[in-house]
Order: sequence, then structure tokens, then C-alpha cells
Amino acid sequence: MMKRITIFGSTGSIGRNTLDVVARFPDKFSVQYLTANSNVELLIEQALQYRPKAVAISTVEHEKTLRERLAGEGIEVLAGEDALCEIARRSDSDFVVGALVGFAGLKPTIEALKAGKNIGLANKETLVVAGEIITKLAKEKGCALLPIDSEHSAIFQCLVGEPAESISKIILTASGGPFRTLPKEAFQHITPEQALKHPNWKMGRKITIDSATLMNKGLEVIEAKWLFGVALDKIEVVVHPQSIVHSMVEFADGSIKAQLGTPDMRIPIQYALTYPDRFHADYPRINWTTLSRLDFEPPDKEKFRCLALAYQAIEQGSSYPTVLNAANEAAVALFLDRKIPFVKIPELIEEALNAHQNGQSVSLDELIEIDRETRRKTCERAGIYDFAL
Ligand code: NAD
Ligand code: MG
Repeated sequence: MMKRITIFGSTGSIGRNTLDVVARFPDKFSVQYLTANSNVELLIEQALQYRPKAVAISTVEHEKTLRERLAGEGIEVLAGEDALCEIARRSDSDFVVGALVGFAGLKPTIEALKAGKNIGLANKETLVVAGEIITKLAKEKGCALLPIDSEHSAIFQCLVGEPAESISKIILTASGGPFRTLPKEAFQHITPEQALKHPNWKMGRKITIDSATLMNKGLEVIEAKWLFGVALDKIEVVVHPQSIVHSMVEFADGSIKAQLGTPDMRIPIQYALTYPDRFHADYPRINWTTLSRLDFEPPDKEKFRCLALAYQAIEQGSSYPTVLNAANEAAVALFLDRKIPFVKIPELIEEALNAHQNGQSVSLDELIEIDRETRRKTCERAGIYDFAL
């Protein structure tokens, strides 16, 4: 049977890689819906190539262009903030790839789960801010929540055939980012250009900065906690600069399984799309005659404060991870816009966590409000009052 695929965020790095995978199996997958925030030119190109049933653009200023250029093509056009949620609710799609970046992915993911969709999730921020709500909803609705993040796909693959209670530890690998060996004193002068150069992966701008601060690994610890239902003290981070071992699971008897591969997101994306099957694909393979070594070292939580802050936020629980995420999204955007230095990112996150008053249990509406307020206050703390986020 054909799987009809919807991609939230098809113009991004994960979205484009997903289309590459989908196009390899025209008798297995078809493209049903594609969405983008503002990259209207690429969305038009993708629409004409992949012929989805409809496309949605979140930024309404681009609606006219999209309609004009797709006129007569038989492709429906939707626009505006609610367009993604409308697509999420439609019944003529079998699998949703959540490839939006940041908090923006939360509402469409919830709508897709409410509509009973199986989801391949790259958008880790959704699990960071509302992990409990999301995992509960997926369970209630019987929806599969399949990880696309390479580390979580690795863990998921290691766990196939293993009883959940046999996990003794999850070992998340981290590349260490571009500043792994840079002395702390030099962090003062890091520019966006330097931080945007990841040694192993080519990704969107936000996650690339998160990889440079190691916040990405902090978000992934929280993501792993929710996806695999393991306690925080059973999740260990180890730096592995080659990004070949994508993560590992240690079992009750001391045996360890790892998943390895070239750093190519199409592999975990394809696994989420084909699970429990594996289809043949000719992505670059590891050459064992040239791969001479695999290194491992502990992360430096003094130099990379963001990782420690993520552990702190998830230990505090409730809405603290939402605050962590919102302050981080705001700080990263401010850094990319050259409004704050690199070293200010962890400072702003720490201030936001310290200032937060915790409620007991938090509803979705409250989380949305906390997200908005934290962004606003983070910009104010940086002395910026007119920053659009
Ligand atoms: P990206 O910036 O390249 O793409 C983001 C996509 O989301 C784009 O299509 C954009 O149009 C859309 N989008 C952004 N903001 C939006 C909004 N407010 N409303 C509607 N659409 C919006 O990001 P990416 O690197 O593809 O990352 C996507 C997600 O996957 C992130 O959560 C990231 O952490 C995760 N992830 C990415 C990679 C990678 O290799 N890129 C690896 C692992 C996990
Ligand atoms: Mg990852």
C-alpha cells in the first residue's frame, strides 16, 4: 500500500532530506501535503516536482505569489497560521513528518496526534516543551511516534526486540560541535559565522547554533527521556567527535548495542518512514579501511553551560523545560542577529530559569503563554525591546 506523506517544514534541511528519501521509492510513498514558513520559491519548486494535493505557507504575505504560480496546476493552496493545523486534521494522509524547527511545531503535532496520525518526529523542541502531553496523547490515540533525530533513531534501532525493563543506560553521543577544543577564554569572540560551521552535519541555522553551545544535546536528553520513558540518571552524554556511533544502549547484563553509520540524515529519516522494514538505498557507506579510529570523551559542562542547564530544567520538571526552550530560542535568534555575544546565550537561559515560578501541572494553554512571556522577557533582559520572534 502507498503511504501518503505529509511534511511539515518541507523547505528545511530535514524536509528536503525527507523529499530525497520519498522520491527514491515512488511505488511506496507519495507526497500528500507540503508546508513552509516563508521560502515560497522552494515551496513552489517542490510542489511542481512532487505534485502534492495541497501546499501551505504560514506567512500570509506569500499567499498571493503561491496562488498565482500554482494556478491551473490542480494543487490546493492554504495560507496563514492555522493552515498547518488544518492539514494535520485531514484524513487523507497516512504519515506526518514533523520537520518544523522550534516551538512552532507544537500545535500541528498535537493536531496530527488528535487526528490519529503516525508521526516521524524531527522537531525535538515539541517533546522538550510538552513531552508529557505529547507522549500521553500518542498513547491514547494509538499513534506511533518514531524518532528522526539521529541519536534517537539509533537508540530506537538498538531497542528493537528488547524488553523496556532491560535498559540499564542510554548513551547519547555528541559531536562536541565546532568549539570542542577551543579554550573557554576564546568563547568571548565567537561569531555567528564560526558557530554556523558544524564539523560533521549540514543542518538548519538554529540547530547548528544549538550544536555549538551543546544545548542540542541537552534538548536531546529531554527528548530521550520522553521517547523512551527512562529516568534522567539513566541517560549519559558522551562526546564522540567523528559522529559515526549515533548512540548506544547498555542493557541489564552489561551488553551494549550501538547503531553506526555515515552522518547522513536520510538514513534515520528513511527508517522512520519504512519501520519496521528496511528498504535498500545507496547512501554513502562507512569505509572500514579508511576509518582508523573512534574517539570518546566526557562533555565539558563548565565550558558548555547549556548542557548543565538542560539537566537542571528537566530535574525541576513541570514548565521549566518550556522556559529553557523559549529562552534558548530567543537567545539563539538574538545571537544570529548579532544582538548578543555567544557567551550571553547560557546566561540568558539561566536567568530565565531562575526567574521562573513553577506551577504544579501545566495545561497546553499555559505552556503557550509561558513560551511567549519567556521570549519577551529574554529579549528585554538583553536590552532589546522591539525584536520580532
Ligand atoms: P530548518 O530551519 O532547516 O527548517 C525548518 C522548517 O520549518 C522550514 O521548512 C521552515 O519553513 C519551517 N518553519 C520554521 N518556522 C516556522 C513557523 N513559525 N511556522 C511554520 N513553519 C516554520 O530546520 P532543520 O534543520 O530542518 O530542523 C528541523 C527540526 O529537526 C528541528 O527541530 C531540529 O532540531 C531537528 N533536527 C534537525 C536535524 C538536521 O539535520 N537538520 C537533525 C536532527 C534533528
Ligand atoms: Mg541529533
